[in-house]
Amino acid sequence: MSEIASSNPVPVPADFIRDIVTTHVAEKRYPQIITRFPPEPNGYLHIGHAKSICLNFGIAREYQGRCNLRMDDTNPAKEDLEYVESIQEDVRWLIRGWADHCLGLKAQGTGPIDEVIGGRTDYRMEAVMAADGVEREPFFASDYFEQIHRYAVQLIRLGKAYICDLSPADTEHYRGSPDRPGTDSPFRTRSVEENLALFARMTAGEFPDGARTLRAKIDMSSPNIWLRDPVLYRIRHVEHHHTGARWCVYPLYDFAHCLSDYLEGITHSICTLEFEVHRPLYDWILQALTLPRPLPHQYEFARLNLGYTLISKRKLMALVKEGLVSGWDDPRLPTLSGMRRRGVRPEALREFARSIGVTKYNALTDVAVLEKAIRDDLNRYATRRLAVLRPIKVVLTNLGETETVELTAVNNPEDPASGTRTIQLTREVWIEQDDFMEVAPPKYFRLRPGGEVRLKYACIIRCDDVVKDAAGRITELHCTAQFDTRTGGTNAAKKVKGTIHWVSASLGIPAEVRLYDRLFTEEEPEKDGRDFKSVLNPGSLSVVFGFIEPSLSGANLGENFQFERLGYFCLDSDNSATKRVFNRTITLKDAWAKESVKV
Ligand code: ATP
Ligand code: MG
Repeated sequence: MSEIASSNPVPVPADFIRDIVTTHVAEKRYPQIITRFPPEPNGYLHIGHAKSICLNFGIAREYQGRCNLRMDDTNPAKEDLEYVESIQEDVRWLIRGWADHCLGLKAQGTGPIDEVIGGRTDYRMEAVMAADGVEREPFFASDYFEQIHRYAVQLIRLGKAYICDLSPADTEHYRGSPDRPGTDSPFRTRSVEENLALFARMTAGEFPDGARTLRAKIDMSSPNIWLRDPVLYRIRHVEHHHTGARWCVYPLYDFAHCLSDYLEGITHSICTLEFEVHRPLYDWILQALTLPRPLPHQYEFARLNLGYTLISKRKLMALVKEGLVSGWDDPRLPTLSGMRRRGVRPEALREFARSIGVTKYNALTDVAVLEKAIRDDLNRYATRRLAVLRPIKVVLTNLGETETVELTAVNNPEDPASGTRTIQLTREVWIEQDDFMEVAPPKYFRLRPGGEVRLKYACIIRCDDVVKDAAGRITELHCTAQFDTRTGGTNAAKKVKGTIHWVSASLGIPAEVRLYDRLFTEEEPEKDGRDFKSVLNPGSLSVVFGFIEPSLSGANLGENFQFERLGYFCLDSDNSATKRVFNRTITLKDAWAKESVKV
């Protein structure tokens, strides 16, 4: 770690991108480090985006810079306000309390974009915390359409762009292939005046979709296919979610992206490896226009691929649209809204991103790494509670109908400050069906006829009688409570091998509990071109009806609980006053690593 990094109040993880930034900081190359996270609002953010958010906001945080959230909204046909809103919510959730002070947001009341060009070195945008409670808008690439259009005109004037009348299919055909050079468009030699006139008419809406394009004049025989006169503008008679009916020509990603970066004063434009081949075009556009301010540079890193998970908005969209999941926030999806609903905390995702690091090589990350980050976070944080998911009734025959025994339960052994609470033992309690076996193998340490087990926080009980109905099904277990084995009791030291959880049958609250498992049965759902829908896990959701301890009636959305011995749980957004609904965030141990008793 360099001197700069080690003198930094925020620890800087070691990776090749941070190394570059550290060097630039040491060289004082920029007045401030400015990154951006530029999602296209055509779907919900997923865990792959979380990696990018943690990298871009992480760098801003470590180097006292800022990071702009920018909607990369150049393709109105696929974009929607719903996505703009969900993206904002998800980003804020992920960085809250960590990097929200680095969030670059548009300053209010600033003038038109023109003010920032023409040699000025200050920026229209400033880093502003939403600390004043004002929800300010993020950046939109579409805010720059006016300016980007002017840059297009400038390129035409410089003889570096032309209007092409080839159809989309012919444009594709003329482009050639990586091993075959392209062919010049017959429209390549149009005069500047003709190009300017046609571009004005395109912009005025005189031509139908696809009739003409604006293309950069670069090199049709370049080995890099992206430099073979790429299309910069196309005609699309469609309204835009942000600019309305103002435009019928829209810039393509490659043209809009580098210029948006430039206009925002981005210093490090970090994206995933598939854009590496676009970098020469990114640089070409910025250099072709004679721009007064320092130019941004693009750096690429490996995208996240995760086992048993699909990470692609398009494919997640297919699952949502075909009803294979309940929506973008289905807790089985790797979307940020799905994981949030499931009870995953942003701290866990940030730790996950930190632990996998940033590299230049695409690889498959073991989903166990994510699950470990979620478990470790919740183990520290979650409040312990008792719940029984597949109940069987135990009657403590030596406790009266209306008698109760007050017990003290620990809220979180990992956090002494969380204290204790009082719970009540009553004559009838629920235990887990799995914690009783009528005919048990020798190593079974839970309850069996004539056997003993400890009820957590209470005392040892002995099973005296198994009561069955006419069909031979077990209805109740009659047990004796050994109250002298309670903490502080005369026989407190008595040992049994098993301790089980329970809930008072008279005081417990019924609840629906949704248990989630991996969405796919295969680690690589699309391996060898397989249709991912053919390997959906039919057991990815099971719903059980159990009982939760009374204190959970006060549970709030966003709180995390450990149901002792069962896993981590949270209230689902389907919860209502009349119906308690919980989600299992994750089991206590990795049930896939070693087959264990599953509840
Ligand atoms: P998808 O393929 O899911 O649609 P995308 O790359 O098209 O993803 P964008 O909205 O364009 O989605 O992405 C915004 C930013 O997030 C980009 O900088 C992109 O490189 C980054 N990103 C997207 N997916 C991943 C991933 N799996 N790992 C890391 N970064 C990602
Ligand atoms: Mg994309």
